[in-house]
Amino acid sequence: MFRALLLQKDDAGSVTAALADVNESMLPEGVVVDVEYSTINYKDGLAIANASPIVRSWPMIPGIDFAGRRTDTGGRVVLNGWGVGESHLGGLAQKAAVPEGWLVELPASLSTLQAAAIGTAGYTSMLCVLALEAHGVTPDLGPVLVTGAAGGVGSVAVAILAQLGYEVHASTGRPEEADYLHLLGATAIVRRDELAGPARALGKMRWAGAIDAVGSHTLANVLSMTHENGCVAACGLAQGMDLPSSVAPFILRGVTLAGVNSVNVVHAKRVEAWRRLASDLPVEKLDAMTTVVPLDAVIGLADDILAGKVRGRIVVDVNA
Ligand code: NDP
Repeated sequence: MFRALLLQKDDAGSVTAALADVNESMLPEGVVVDVEYSTINYKDGLAIANASPIVRSWPMIPGIDFAGRRTDTGGRVVLNGWGVGESHLGGLAQKAAVPEGWLVELPASLSTLQAAAIGTAGYTSMLCVLALEAHGVTPDLGPVLVTGAAGGVGSVAVAILAQLGYEVHASTGRPEEADYLHLLGATAIVRRDELAGPARALGKMRWAGAIDAVGSHTLANVLSMTHENGCVAACGLAQGMDLPSSVAPFILRGVTLAGVNSVNVVHAKRVEAWRRLASDLPVEKLDAMTTVVPLDAVIGLADDILAGKVRGRIVVDVNA
């Protein structure tokens, strides 16, 4: 038996979340991992609070990522996405089992705790950084913007971009987190409400590139304020799923909108992202954005992450 957070749906369609002792026979085929840490990502909040149809198979152990040790080789591994915690039993448990090809071996310099602190949010931030680099956004071209900056994706993105030498502007709805964002490397704070309303087709050009975790009007405004031939890496929807924009930034300024989906990325790109995370994310900044909680704290925190109240990253010690 192992301990897990279990989501169950009854015949009337209501969903309950509770800690449970689960029989190992419930695990699917695959490499069994002794999970050491999982995390709470925005998508986990949606799944646990049943706020969006994230879970596609019941009962489900949520948790879209985990870090731990393979029971066969003892190797330290990290997992992000692939439908884990959605259609495949997830990481908020003491054990998980997944196909071999889904696991990424941890770079030697990262502990399993640090890998979980980075988690899917941080790994997605690095995929966004790789997208900006692939589109030629270099530090000499001007400031870059990170939206939802005090959240998980945003915090890691600010820290990485600052470490790489970019001038980072951080957009937040929590002005009280300005000191935290400066500590991570932001040089300027942009108030969330400056970007939250309907966008003009083209605005004053402010940023050479951006990482957007927010979507909706915010993404539309960011696109309209991006430099000629700049790039915006879009990965999130904290404000909304819509994109009330126009084609003007694309056809009149050559702006690129680079979509980032961390779930089904090929293995080689994951390995590259984790290699870059090990080299480009300063450990002291990662520590500054990380809170560790036990498994029984997760249910209460699901609503907090959906309400935008969580700062940085929450790691779950599944054995605590
Ligand atoms: P967090 O909740 O940690 O961060 C989201 C941040 O967005 C909040 O901290 C807040 O930042 C800001 N925010 C919240 N509500 C609003 C709002 N109504 N309007 C504007 N800003 C808002 O979540 P994560 O960082 O884990 O995830 C961020 C987004 O990225 C989510 O939508 C998530 O689903 C998505 N995501 C996508 C992935 C992919 O593969 N594409 C992978 C991982 C995440 P502040 O207080 O600083 O304003």
